Amino acid sequence: MNEGLRRMIERDIVGRGIRDPRVIAAMKKVDRALFVPPEWRDSAYGDHPLSIGAGQTISQPYMVAFMTETLGLSGKERVLEIGTGSGYQTAILAELALEVYTVERIESLATAAEDRLAAMGYSNIRFHIGDGSLGWEEHAPYDRIIVTAAAPAAPSSLIEQIAEGGRMVIPTGPQDGQVLEIIDRRENVILRKKSMGCIFVPLIGEEGFPDGARSR
Ligand code: SAM
Repeated sequence: MNEGLRRMIERDIVGRGIRDPRVIAAMKKVDRALFVPPEWRDSAYGDHPLSIGAGQTISQPYMVAFMTETLGLSGKERVLEIGTGSGYQTAILAELALEVYTVERIESLATAAEDRLAAMGYSNIRFHIGDGSLGWEEHAPYDRIIVTAAAPAAPSSLIEQIAEGGRMVIPTGPQDGQVLEIIDRRENVILRKKSMGCIFVPLIGEEGFPDGARSR
């Protein structure tokens, strides 16, 4: 592990309260610098989002770790991720789950992420280009769902695709600030909890914000 990554883990991951040893190990193993454009490499270990092109961002490392820890992965789960972006969160999930299904609406980002993750040797990820606000019905239900873009409210299509005993983590609320919602399905009852405040780029689609919604 290089010095920048070591400091990121100490300061922004362990230092801010992430405790799951498997999540910490994955954050150490997957080097964030490999997912940011060359012009941002010097800032790759800062605890903030960075531009990845097409008006989109790679999320801050602490938020990636917090959302991943909240999923409570043991290694046996099938996980749906909405918002592939750079593929950084996808790689963390692929380290910790059995299979990852990831959906991105912007083709150039999806293709770049797929090439990058294949070159890194991941073989448990399936990619789809399309409107993830509707989920990926073909492979549903999923033990865990993670949405890395902000929705006005949790899409009903995604709630339907949570498996029994499963969980979804999703930022919901207006475009200028959201809360992380944790949605569990237990004996077919849907249980909702609110967690921390956050700001994500918009989920654009049929059950998200309309196209033309502002990205940061
Ligand atoms: N998890 C990503 C990473 O680690 O780089 C960061 C994701 S970025 C904050 C949000 C992503 O969601 C963007 O790439 C954006 O294009 C994508 N997105 C927005 N609306 C979407 C939709 N309806 N379906 C799929 N992806 C969507």
